[in-house]
Amino acid sequence: MDLRSLAALLPLALLALPARAAELPIFDAHVHYSHDAWENLPPKEAIAILRKAGLVRALVSSSGDEGTQRLLAEAPTLIVPSLRPYRKRSDIGTWVRDDTVTTFLEDRLAKARYAAIGEFHLYGADAELPVPKRMVALARQHKLVLHAHSDADALERIFRQDPDARVLWAHSGFVQADAVRAMLGKHRNLWCDLAFRSEQGGGGKVPAEWRALFTDYPDRFMVGTDTFTPERWHYIVEHAGWSRAWLGDLPPALAERIAWRNADALFGSWKPAAAP
Ligand SMILES: [Zn+2]
Repeated sequence: MDLRSLAALLPLALLALPARAAELPIFDAHVHYSHDAWENLPPKEAIAILRKAGLVRALVSSSGDEGTQRLLAEAPTLIVPSLRPYRKRSDIGTWVRDDTVTTFLEDRLAKARYAAIGEFHLYGADAELPVPKRMVALARQHKLVLHAHSDADALERIFRQDPDARVLWAHSGFVQADAVRAMLGKHRNLWCDLAFRSEQGGGGKVPAEWRALFTDYPDRFMVGTDTFTPERWHYIVEHAGWSRAWLGDLPPALAERIAWRNADALFGSWKPAAAP
């Protein structure tokens, strides 16, 4: 390229800057990067997707934890690590009765630092089983947020075990706005991610009941993609754009809170280890 054509391009490049700078930052609070993801999408490419989506940070967990550690090594200031109580995908249905999960959690917590434990799947009275109870105790001991894909019953049991627990309710429990509202009213240490939900912002519009909920609890919600299968990694950029569209229907200060400030406040105390 000669200098004249470069000069012709410059004003365009400068014009593009403010638009990019104005793009709403997103903290994606629901990302998984398990072995079947990193086998097809190496860490460098995964990080490139997160940056292309305009993410300021991402809460990442993975079955076996290796994917999380690989991403963290690649981008320590972008990744907020969460420890999943699963070593492989199939642990999802058996972990609550599997004593070796406790050993796995204790072993990982002794070796690495995390901001959260989860996302785990836990329903009803299963929360009283020894393995989940020990997990709640470990979260308290290590001051970690619990990222729970749970029903309200399991959440109540977690809060009874540790009234000071900080819980991020995955998918806002997949319950309707009034049921989310009831739980937020009862528990000051409950936050909600909106992963894999669309009714709060379909068509770029926030319906009245969700608008009222976000307005009444402006500091409790955050967005997330949920890359529960490897293919969904390629949806992260689109999801960030889709989130910006409906967040744009809210007052800017509220939109910023849901987009990234709430997650940043919840996980802000987590800092990557200083380089050796
Ligand atoms: Zn998930």
